Amino acid sequence: MRTHYCGTITSAQIDEEVTLYGWVDRRRDHGGVIFLDMRDREGIVQVVFDPDTEEHFQRADRVRSEYVLEIKGRVRARSDATINPNMLTGEIEILGKKLEILNSAATPPFQLDQHIEVGEDVRLKYRYIDLRRPEMLEKLKLRSRVTSSIRRFMDENGFLDIETPILTKATPEGARDYLVPSRTHEGKFFALPQSPQLFKQLLMVSGMDRYYQIAKCFRDEDLRADRQPEFTQIDIETSFMNDQQIMAITERMIQGLFKEVLDVDLGDFPHMPYAEAMSRFGSDKPDLRIPLELVDVDDLMRQVDFKVFNGPANDAKGRVAALKVTGGAQISRKQIDGYTKFVSIYGAKGLAWIKINDITAGIEGLQSPILKFMPEDIITQMMARLAVTDGDIVFFGADKTSIVNEALGALRVKVGEDQGLIKGDWAPLWVVDFPMFEENSEGNLTSLHHPFTAPACSPEALEKNPEQALSIAYDMVLNGTELGGGSVRIHQADMQQAVFRVLGISDEEAQEKFGFLLDALKYGAPPHGGLAFGLDRLVMLMTGAKSIRDVIAFPKTQSAACVMTDAPGLADNKQLRELNIRLREKPKAE
Ligand code: ASP
Repeated sequence: MRTHYCGTITSAQIDEEVTLYGWVDRRRDHGGVIFLDMRDREGIVQVVFDPDTEEHFQRADRVRSEYVLEIKGRVRARSDATINPNMLTGEIEILGKKLEILNSAATPPFQLDQHIEVGEDVRLKYRYIDLRRPEMLEKLKLRSRVTSSIRRFMDENGFLDIETPILTKATPEGARDYLVPSRTHEGKFFALPQSPQLFKQLLMVSGMDRYYQIAKCFRDEDLRADRQPEFTQIDIETSFMNDQQIMAITERMIQGLFKEVLDVDLGDFPHMPYAEAMSRFGSDKPDLRIPLELVDVDDLMRQVDFKVFNGPANDAKGRVAALKVTGGAQISRKQIDGYTKFVSIYGAKGLAWIKINDITAGIEGLQSPILKFMPEDIITQMMARLAVTDGDIVFFGADKTSIVNEALGALRVKVGEDQGLIKGDWAPLWVVDFPMFEENSEGNLTSLHHPFTAPACSPEALEKNPEQALSIAYDMVLNGTELGGGSVRIHQADMQQAVFRVLGISDEEAQEKFGFLLDALKYGAPPHGGLAFGLDRLVMLMTGAKSIRDVIAFPKTQSAACVMTDAPGLADNKQLRELNIRLREKPKAE
């Protein structure tokens, strides 16, 4: 039996006989004495074999990196000269007495400390080796502490951990479904859940009162950067609680988690209406660590003789906004060109700017290609509104409101990062009062959250004026990332049907897709609501990982594949026949 993990042995164990299991991190031959750095889950310890223990010394001489060993030995203090203060075990070493080789290892495809050079594809192909790196281990350990803290909180607060089906019907969360063909029901398909949304609502109808689940969700999206087709949610639902109460209890959970795992006090989370977040930050997940804001200048731009500005300023669906960067006048032309390219990703056709060199010199003290289009009094009013001082730069966005918000919202974050303006480590908030619907590119209304979100108005008012309707929904945002979101749900069938009608879902279609929910709402559904947190994203923020893939043991690549197992794979003909599936075209061999 193991007596200690390698990385946990300190001076407290001096003179103890220990048994260790682990991998050879490094082997060094120092003129007749062999040093092995033994590694396991908890860290590294140095083991020394000298020729006295002949048989075991011979074996120590044979081992190579990543061999798996059992070692017995005695803990002793290192000589002063060899103490390594950078290692937890740096004051001691093990004088090895016995060594068993439990398994040899082929030369690893990369040295554990050379993972950066080998690239992510190789790391993912040999993920089991990549995960041996202490840095990766630490992330997965922290993830485990996060889930155990959450489970404890949930348990203490009376939440029941209940599993919901993976083979199910579509649960709309705005992505494509992953489909699974049914063998026993010819021509029919299961959908993997985009979330447990409908089941958790049904659990409230059953009277479970408080539910949670650490649940896998599946969304077949065109992979935007850092999304995973399968990911994990901390999924929560409650009965008889209003939005404020749901936010309060989940805020306590996240505060407690940060305190316990990172010893960080997040403080109370401010609440900000969606409209304010969009207007001030161009985003419904503002990073409040960045002290830059968008300022509307539509009213000033209506009259200017410059179509780029007066067009959107006079359009009800347009916006002209300014972003002042204090001290930004030193941003070079080249950097501005870079930013212009950056905002074009979001559909912006250009990026106008004004540098303030000497505010006392009036228009002469400003520098910009667009000044010639603007009357002086408009410029003066604008500068006063923006409260500029010497050395500032102001960027402008003028386009459809959605493009201006996205472009300037993203620019705000980029410039904030580039200019080192980020203040503080953590800035949480709740974004509330979302609109019920948004217009998609075809001009149809779609749910901003999902169609089961309760509006803050009556069914009549909703159908009369759906664009104006607000929902009782809330998102928790941390450092510009949406950590989680949820809502109070519709618990009455007539309201649910009204929402379906606004979404253009006919009664027949609603019955076919969600008949079971509409039925359930008739049989005594309590008022209920909840939310879900993205566990992967939460752990990514808490560990400071650069990518969501670094906090998932076996993630998919950007193209939604697993390079280690080679999934997805081809199905053989027998399987396809059993499933009654004929492929339209033979997939080309890879
Ligand atoms: N089901 C929602 C989602 O996956 C969260 C919720 O409303 O509870 O985003």
